[in-house]
Amino acid sequence: MSQTRFIPACTLIGLLALAGCATPQSRVPTVDQNSTLNEAQKQREMVVEDFVSTNKRLQTVASKIIVNGAELCGDKVAPYFGIHTWNEDNFQQEWKRAVQAKYGLTGQIHIANVASGSVGDVAGLKAGDVIQSINGWLAPYGKDGPDKFSEKLKELGKSGKPVEFIIRRSGEEKKIAVSPTQACDFKVSLSADDGKNAYADGKNIVIHKGMMDFFRTDEEIALVVSHELAHNSMKHIDAQKKNAIIGGVFGLLLDVAAAAGGVNTNGNFTRMASNAGAGAFSVAFEQEADYVGLYFMAIAGYKIDDAPNFWRRMATSHSQSISMKTSHPTAPERFVALETAVKEIKDKIKNKQALKPEMKTSSKAK
Ligand SMILES: [Zn+2]
Repeated sequence: MSQTRFIPACTLIGLLALAGCATPQSRVPTVDQNSTLNEAQKQREMVVEDFVSTNKRLQTVASKIIVNGAELCGDKVAPYFGIHTWNEDNFQQEWKRAVQAKYGLTGQIHIANVASGSVGDVAGLKAGDVIQSINGWLAPYGKDGPDKFSEKLKELGKSGKPVEFIIRRSGEEKKIAVSPTQACDFKVSLSADDGKNAYADGKNIVIHKGMMDFFRTDEEIALVVSHELAHNSMKHIDAQKKNAIIGGVFGLLLDVAAAAGGVNTNGNFTRMASNAGAGAFSVAFEQEADYVGLYFMAIAGYKIDDAPNFWRRMATSHSQSISMKTSHPTAPERFVALETAVKEIKDKIKNKQALKPEMKTSSKAK
């Protein structure tokens, strides 16, 4: 199909005589600057609101996985309370007004979200609570306040005893004691990036907003979080001598794309593919993350049956750019391995066996 046929006549004429073509004919209303600024503010508030509700959804799923899967994380566990905090200094100037207006953020430590069902939730902490102190330690101010706070909270949680929060809610001070639980010690974060991607870097698990928008169910969120968690818990980054890894979810896609001889030239996918290509996990690591990840998911109580289909959907979501008619063995092999793992786990559940990945007896994962 030739594209030239569709060049609008105006464009051709325009090349010859720049004036007189495609000038608006109607008189559109004039806008004043204040209204424009207010509109921009309103839109920022909507963006923040969407981000906050998406993050709450992510953290609620992630919380179940890192708590229930603690045993699979070996020595990489830490006391966990199920809360995330923020303050206005975490935002650049133009966003500050939006979070102040929408969430009343100040320089103090505010609870951004409480994972549903977590110990913090059960104890009664709520998003919006302003933390005054924990066990008498005054909550810090400033940009790195939330990080300092979470370090201190972890430290206090090591005793295993309840930590006493003094919080302010609707002008009233409250005392809430929260008993910590153990969880895998990897921070799960939502990034504002629109790209459909997720990655693990040995310490963190980062899910892009674009990826969250792609998920249809909580099972799909659980699958990707579990897969990335497995990369971290199985120390894939250490094993690769701390290469800058931005591979994650796209290991599989890349296999398909590489086999098809490349990707199209427009938009996100090329950018993501080249990011991912810089340090993608090897196929063996991907398969191990699939395998161990399914265990994390099952232990947290998520249904694993649709896992292979989700990866298929990921791999084919760029169908214009990737030919699926590939002779490359990796992708099909991975699907078959996934289906075998699903069966292995379901058999164990049926036979009431412990949900532990099968390990090579002599050495750990290669
Ligand atoms: Zn991966």
